[in-house]
Amino acid sequence: MSVFRRTLEARQPAEGGRRWVFVPYDQLSADIGPLSREDPKRLGILLVENRWQLARRPYHRQKLAYLLANLRHFALEQAARGAAVRYVEADAPYRKLVKPLLSELGPMRAMVPAERELRLDLEPLVRSGALELIPHEGWLTTQEQFLAARRKGAPWRMDVFYKHVRRETRVMMRNGRPEGGKFSFDPENREPWRGAPKPPQPPRFPVDAIKEEVGQLIESEYAEHPGRLDVEALPATREDAEKLWRWAKRGCLPHFGPFEDAMSSHSSGLFHTRLSALINLHRLLPARVVAETARMSIGLPSKEGFVRQVLGWREFIRHVHLASDGLRRLPEGDPPVAKRAGDGGYASWAGKAWPTRRSPRVLDGGAMPGVLGDDMALPPAYWGRRSGLACLDRVVSDVWGEGWSHHITRLVVLSGIATMLDVSPRELTDWFWAAYIDAYDWVVEPNVLGMGRFAVGDYMSTKPYVTGAAYINRMSDFCEGCVFSPRRDCPLTALYWAFLARHERVLKDNARMKLAMASMRRRSAAQRRRDAGVFRMVGDLLTAGHIVSPDSLHAATT
Ligand SMILES: Cc1cc2nc3c(=O)[nH]c(=O)nc-3n(C[C@H](O)[C@H](O)[C@H](O)COP(=O)(O)OP(=O)(O)OC[C@H]3O[C@@H](n4cnc5c(N)ncnc54)[C@H](O)[C@@H]3O)c2cc1C
Ligand code: SF4
Repeated sequence: MSVFRRTLEARQPAEGGRRWVFVPYDQLSADIGPLSREDPKRLGILLVENRWQLARRPYHRQKLAYLLANLRHFALEQAARGAAVRYVEADAPYRKLVKPLLSELGPMRAMVPAERELRLDLEPLVRSGALELIPHEGWLTTQEQFLAARRKGAPWRMDVFYKHVRRETRVMMRNGRPEGGKFSFDPENREPWRGAPKPPQPPRFPVDAIKEEVGQLIESEYAEHPGRLDVEALPATREDAEKLWRWAKRGCLPHFGPFEDAMSSHSSGLFHTRLSALINLHRLLPARVVAETARMSIGLPSKEGFVRQVLGWREFIRHVHLASDGLRRLPEGDPPVAKRAGDGGYASWAGKAWPTRRSPRVLDGGAMPGVLGDDMALPPAYWGRRSGLACLDRVVSDVWGEGWSHHITRLVVLSGIATMLDVSPRELTDWFWAAYIDAYDWVVEPNVLGMGRFAVGDYMSTKPYVTGAAYINRMSDFCEGCVFSPRRDCPLTALYWAFLARHERVLKDNARMKLAMASMRRRSAAQRRRDAGVFRMVGDLLTAGHIVSPDSLHAATT
């Protein structure tokens, strides 16, 4: 018997005479919902460790470890406070494995799952009346607030939603006015980082027997999954979560704002808090994070900048997913939907297919919007094959090393390059979903399809986030270690112009792209031919898994 099972059994009270709650893998908090109100001695909690779900995509090993270690520690914490915990290890869709437990233990309640996939999977049990869904108390805003913040027929805009929500929640408001006189300090928060102040080292956490066992399980049962497992980097207990939050408040938040957009090869995170994975599992509650930040005595651009991420962006993203049924319902018409879960390009990188799992028919592979009409396969460079582009190689190496990278690297480097190469938006989304420890459908789909890849046009963002070398060079030190020169021959600059030229029809009326489009049109015919040549060459080389070098580009474009 595993150490986890033995410890759980030793703490386990008798199961009889209890009202049961099904707690999904990402609702691991006893400070919200029935767990926060009901006497633990009368409470039964069903937790499911589901191999079927964990092996559905080629998830990063660190992500699997995050889920399993937090789930197991949560089970032990709940048993220790007197709740009966039924911890099921299984390998089947939730509808199949929860059904007999409902018959055995009686009707259950569950807070509405955040993930669309889980909501659909559980639907027959909800319809039968055996499982009652109750509101999810982890969110900070309601769908009504989201809908009320938009002018009828207008696209979704985060800044409009955020102002509305600041007023409604009164977070960082004084006498009806935003602290500091304006709602957003974003324009102040665009400094590059040139070595000072020193960014904090991400904390390490004690490895207890539970985490060690999870680590061994990943190495043996999930050995085919990609990515580096680093158990010491894994917060899984309540104490670990507190430690990470204290570290974020002390080391990150005071400098969060000004360096929010900066990137560095010396520090993968700079002053970003690395809280997303724990917040998405509700090991740290967003309400607490926002309230404590709002009370901190730090510079307003940092304080507001961080509050905007959690109260603004995170909630906005979730509402867009909900309102559009996972981007399946769009004003321009409903996009096609993938039949089954994608592997994010795993097969072409690994040379073997990711084993498909039998799933209920309602679980498709997600929406496939693409206003730019793109279809290139995701290059193996995203799985760790060297590309020769120092910025891309640096960030990809961070991702497979940590299961994480910060916002601007996701937006400008990973998504920006994929966008300029016309990579399939769905495949890129599936890659992010597999590679990041904080990725779940409700958050990864709008962020990648909508923000990163501009696949739904201006439905939720004003413009595509594409950039040539000048921006990356200004905001990072990546170019210092690159064989290309950002001023002379960086292929990203040519890719940028080629992207604007290829997609002129879609982008020509975009107000925020007017200047860029005008500059593109001023390029000579020879320059435009070269831009298109670089686009073709870089695409061909990366698709074939080859390195892009100044020589190969030179040969292709002269
Ligand atoms: C292409 C792309 C893909 C992304 N995929 C995910 C994902 O799968 N899961 C995920 O949680 N975030 C995702 N994000 C949003 C954001 O990049 C991460 O939340 C953030 O980088 C996590 O690191 P952090 O905790 O250090 O964040 P910080 O920079 O310290 O920000 C604080 C918190 O704000 C919240 N937040 C900020 N922006 C967003 C956002 N756009 N959406 C949701 N929450 C946000 C997170 O909870 C985060 O922990 C994505 C962004 C892009 C551009
Ligand atoms: S020169 Fe170009 S490819 Fe190289 S790191 Fe800079 S932006 Fe990236």
